[in-house]
Amino acid sequence: MDTLKFVIVGHVDHGKSTLIGRLLYDTKSLSSDRLKEIEKISKDLGRQTEFAYLLDHLEEERRQGITIDTTQVFFKTPKREYVIIDAPGHIEFVKNMITGASQAEAAILIVDAEEGVKEQSRRHAYILSLLGIKQVIVVLNKMDLVDFSQDKFNEVKSKVEEFLKSLGVTAIFYIPISALAGDNIASNSKKMNWYPGPNFLESLDTLTSRKLAQDRPLIFSVQDIYKIDDKRIIAGRLEAGVLKEGDSVEVLPSNQVTKVKSIEKYLEDTDTAYAGQSIGITTEDAVFINNGDIVCETEEKPNLTDTFKASIFWMAKDGLKNQERLTIRCSTQEAKCNIESIKTKIDSSTFEVITKDQGILNNLEVAQVTIKTKTPIAVKTFEDLQELGRFVLVRDRNVCAGGIVTDF
Ligand code: GDP
Repeated sequence: MDTLKFVIVGHVDHGKSTLIGRLLYDTKSLSSDRLKEIEKISKDLGRQTEFAYLLDHLEEERRQGITIDTTQVFFKTPKREYVIIDAPGHIEFVKNMITGASQAEAAILIVDAEEGVKEQSRRHAYILSLLGIKQVIVVLNKMDLVDFSQDKFNEVKSKVEEFLKSLGVTAIFYIPISALAGDNIASNSKKMNWYPGPNFLESLDTLTSRKLAQDRPLIFSVQDIYKIDDKRIIAGRLEAGVLKEGDSVEVLPSNQVTKVKSIEKYLEDTDTAYAGQSIGITTEDAVFINNGDIVCETEEKPNLTDTFKASIFWMAKDGLKNQERLTIRCSTQEAKCNIESIKTKIDSSTFEVITKDQGILNNLEVAQVTIKTKTPIAVKTFEDLQELGRFVLVRDRNVCAGGIVTDF
């Protein structure tokens, strides 16, 4: 079954926990024991089933490392499984996104319909744009507090829209909800007949999940060249795609085109290799190839470039200075590079925009930069192809930053 990972962001108290609780409840993802327990506590407290309480409860278990880890499937619709990634506001989120440890494919921005956009809504939306999350759904929560008013919805919606536009983010849907009462979550609310849909779960089902590595265009990163008897074996890792004997391939950066003559796998006789496997190949022609080169399909080849825009997350005590020379590693490629401009710095623990120390990127800060490499390398935007859209920066043999390619 298809899985989609998303993150919910928004200002504190706008209803993030309540929404998660509601999703688990409405999709029947809770065990009946746990439900009973929560219902009892809620009754004792004289409240209707309180989803925020449920979430505090889950949070506590998570802290104790009991049931939930961040990669656990949280809920299902008939279409697919959903994983809610731990919310940002945390350094770990940014780090995981940028290093690829755990990536949100979509984001939900929750905004209190009564309060409107607040400081944290802005910061969170901003980090989404920096991290290249393009699929965004906005939910305007607590519609019950504004009498389910269409006018109020439209008013807040246009404010959010305007502000997202300034970040270059376009939300796919704006949905009026009440997370607490369950309006427009799993079914269309009768209290908001003016809203044509989709409800929140339906909107999630319209998102596109990232293709499996195997279904993406071929990327074979060259790690080594061996000569065994009279065979010249090109060893490396199949980062994406499927490779078969007889396939036509192109080598970057030489742009030479050839055919795969054989696939060499240790102790195995095979003519096909899949993403994730480390293999050797031989080619029909004697191609000019080196460690760090990329073998790909001509029709889907990555950009060979020496300049691109990126978001980087700095992880070293000594800050990065504008124009500093570092080494970039992207897949097996390595090149010297210059960091040309450090723009829009953000503190990864608070998501605040930092205006001091312009021209320097300090520990745990994120920024938009332009990277210029001494020799061209094969890259793609992170959105297009993670394997070649993600890199690390190295200073004196230490990895000091992670980054994603955002634009050319
Ligand atoms: P978080 O900080 O974003 O996780 O916010 P919570 O989920 O903890 O919600 C903050 C408060 O808002 C709690 O008291 C919730 O009960 C309340 N709340 C959340 N959603 C709704 C809603 O749809 N309607 C109303 N009236 N209150 C809500």
